[in-house]
Amino acid sequence: MGILFFFFLGSIVGSFLNVVALRLEAGTDFVRGRSACPECHALIAWYDNIPLFSFLILRGKCRSCRVAIPWRYPLVEFGTGIVYAGTVSLFFNPIETSAWIETVWLLGLFSFLIVIALYDARTLEIPVALLYIGALWALGALLMLDWNLSTDMMWSMDGRTVSGLLGAAGAWIFFAALSFFSRETWMGWGDSWLAAIIGLSVGIQGVFFALTLAFGIGALFSCVLLLRKKVVMTTQVPFGPFLVIGLIAYFFLSQLDIIQYGRSAWIVNLFS
Ligand SMILES: [Zn+2]
Repeated sequence: MGILFFFFLGSIVGSFLNVVALRLEAGTDFVRGRSACPECHALIAWYDNIPLFSFLILRGKCRSCRVAIPWRYPLVEFGTGIVYAGTVSLFFNPIETSAWIETVWLLGLFSFLIVIALYDARTLEIPVALLYIGALWALGALLMLDWNLSTDMMWSMDGRTVSGLLGAAGAWIFFAALSFFSRETWMGWGDSWLAAIIGLSVGIQGVFFALTLAFGIGALFSCVLLLRKKVVMTTQVPFGPFLVIGLIAYFFLSQLDIIQYGRSAWIVNLFS
């Protein structure tokens, strides 16, 4: 039951994140104003605005003008629902302070990153303000997680803060080199800062695997598009969404113990 609750909560959040990304893109006020059909401008009643259910009941069409509702809406609602249910079931434990911090942190981080991914997917740009907030949010959480263990951990090589800062530096340097040498045709500068947030979140032990996941998922997706002739080799494909999917996949897999060995073995030895 708990999982279903968090899935539904996630789908409500996803519905909101989708609107935030679209309104950021359009430059309109995303706090006020009720949702309206972009086609016929009819206001959407609350019962037609229930995540996933309304899309099914309306069979993907606006109630007043019957124009198709983009697939993006139910997909983001479903995806965010899965992310919320997965995060809570894998990370939350009511009797551990660190699990509380980690769960709240990850739910917030993933929500920010979903907005960044949606924005990047359509505009090939990443809003700088969101990157700053994401970085501060991650840094604050790492400091709290270390401090919760002991104050010494906050500055220790074994702590998550130092590990995160090293991971951020490593990821940034790698992506900055890619965008510098390709003159921003492979990667943009926005991607380097997004990659830095990912390095910060997963730490030096995880950054290699998380970025490998992102590149793998991105390559697979590009192959599918190439085969279906949706893009040609020179088409710019946004990389932000893959970085975000790679990060979320990394956190889920690491908690499932699938990559415990791989992420700690070789690079930790370098630093200890
Ligand atoms: Zn309409």
